[in-house]
Amino acid sequence: MSAVAAKPAALDVARLRADFPVLAQRINGKPLAYLDNGASSQRPHAVIEAERHYASEMHANVHRGVHTLSQRATDAFEAARERVRRFLNARSTREIVFTRGTTESINLVAQSFVRPRARPGDEILITHLEHHANIVPWQMACAATGAMLKVAPIDRRGEVDMEAFRSLLSARTLLVATAHVSNALGTVLPVREIVALAHARGVPVLLDGAQAVPHFALDLQALDCDFYAFSGHKLYGPDGIGVLYGRESLLEAMPPWQGGGDMILAVSFSGPTYNQLPFKFEAGTPHISGAVGLAAAIDYVDGVGLERIAAWEQELLGYATARLGAVDGLTIIGTARDKASLVSFVVEGVHPHDLGTILDQEGIAIRTGHHCAMPAIEFFGVPATARASFAFYNTREEIDRLATAVAAARAMFR
Ligand code: PLP
Repeated sequence: MSAVAAKPAALDVARLRADFPVLAQRINGKPLAYLDNGASSQRPHAVIEAERHYASEMHANVHRGVHTLSQRATDAFEAARERVRRFLNARSTREIVFTRGTTESINLVAQSFVRPRARPGDEILITHLEHHANIVPWQMACAATGAMLKVAPIDRRGEVDMEAFRSLLSARTLLVATAHVSNALGTVLPVREIVALAHARGVPVLLDGAQAVPHFALDLQALDCDFYAFSGHKLYGPDGIGVLYGRESLLEAMPPWQGGGDMILAVSFSGPTYNQLPFKFEAGTPHISGAVGLAAAIDYVDGVGLERIAAWEQELLGYATARLGAVDGLTIIGTARDKASLVSFVVEGVHPHDLGTILDQEGIAIRTGHHCAMPAIEFFGVPATARASFAFYNTREEIDRLATAVAAARAMFR
């Protein structure tokens, strides 16, 4: 093997774009430039087809029927779980819980891990850049138990102050819960260091991977975190399906959080006997077609290659940073040294919402607002930002159109 790592082969972006029917549209008479992938990415034919195939040839309820269709549906659902396990390099499918998405995965941990354990004065440690989904469930658990939320500060680049993080870890810390990648700023957090620091004090770590999973390959055994949450719809898959990875020994010790079918082995009026992992955490009929679609999305992404995706997206990030940075009156919010492919920005004299509407007239879809990360946005002294978030199917030409349209909007409001 060469000592120099081989550069991944370049992506054929034009060919890949043809896999995504949505991208061929015109919006307001202009070719769609879809730059809102951080909110939700688009689905390739392979995912749409996998869901259609499931619905038209396999659908029945899972885990319950002896008839052929039910067995097919169960096999497809459990094969999807195994596909997720392999994608994350988790040890066992017992560690893969299907949920509605990142939000539900984090709420599961708040309800089932934190609430039964927390005593008044215990602490949950998060950071200042979290999505509301990684703030509010802990606030609710704290309100119910008397535990306290501790927040590690960030600096003007949007990087976590790791000295402060270290000093906030205490003998009372019950859980560390941080983003892997910030959805508002693009910051990639030093998650290996976070896990190492927390584990050195015996504290488990939850990572909110909603913005990480679409951008780079993961190996959860190497990362060694205790919980990891993500959503299918940001990974070119269906909405309404997501995953909670949990270390088996922790999940085993946690009580179920919702009661109903599938999470029990037996029920009598004297009480239930709970099912084994992971079914203990999957009450009711799951989103079977969503899981099948998610597995197809993972196959698709792996087929393209996460290394090649990461390389192209970093190019797009560099290009967008330079092009937008050159627009008069534009300030980029979030300039961390390690960033995923999104750019948050404000333009002097133009409210982000007006900007979003103007860009929409040009067929350019971006997100504007607080991005469900109000504390992070307020830290930078702005009420809202515009955010362009890139997927591997985006192009330099789309970024040129974005920069040109933003400059025109700035000129309009001068
Ligand atoms: N965490 C982060 C970092 C996110 O970006 C998002 C969605 O934008 C979420 C959590 C919530 O994801 P979902 O709405 O799919 O549950």
